[in-house]
Amino acid sequence: MRKYKFKNGKELEVKTMFCVGQNYAKHAAEMGGQVATDPIIFIKPPQAYIENGGKIILPDMSKNIHHEVELVVVIGKECKNISEDDAINYIAGYAVGIDVTMRDVQKQSKDNGLPWAVAKGFYSSAPISEIIPAENFGDQIPFFDLSLKVNNQLRQNSSTQYMERSVAKLIEYLSRVFTLEPGDCIFTGTPEGVGQIVNGDILFAELNNYAALSVECVAQNSFFK
Ligand code: MG
Repeated sequence: MRKYKFKNGKELEVKTMFCVGQNYAKHAAEMGGQVATDPIIFIKPPQAYIENGGKIILPDMSKNIHHEVELVVVIGKECKNISEDDAINYIAGYAVGIDVTMRDVQKQSKDNGLPWAVAKGFYSSAPISEIIPAENFGDQIPFFDLSLKVNNQLRQNSSTQYMERSVAKLIEYLSRVFTLEPGDCIFTGTPEGVGQIVNGDILFAELNNYAALSVECVAQNSFFK
């Protein structure tokens, strides 16, 4: 069983990962679009999860795999029809994650009106750090600075204050469409600066001052033998 590990020793089974597309205007712009009227939601399965120190297995089917650093929110209680104002009471904790994306496969899906499951949900496509318990932040959903380095070079650096839809708004929306369960998480979207990663790259992602994540990229053909 895959488990989230909290900084206070608590553990929680990894369940469905709900991911938000284009939640920062500057990233939407670099993808050639603008923030959509309704949230763009897709799902990664639990087997996409890898923990700090793990390996991203880069699928051979893609020639252009991208990093997307994101705030990850882990749900602690069942959510059905939760209001934005009440959302904070359902959050178990916060982490930094990378929404690893086969960009060429995603583009092909977009161009043909097909789902993103393969482009976004493959094995090891969801590295997530240790979880910082929500109670550490009192009665607020805080803003976090987040950043990502590839081989020690800074590629992404922003703040969750620039999210178009807040964490609370996303919980409200998801709790009405899907309902949420303990162990579900939300990848809240990436800021600008996404780019390619290749075999041998070391990725270092941070929620500055709170959580860090280090993972290595390995080509699939040298892993699945
Ligand atoms: Mg993303």
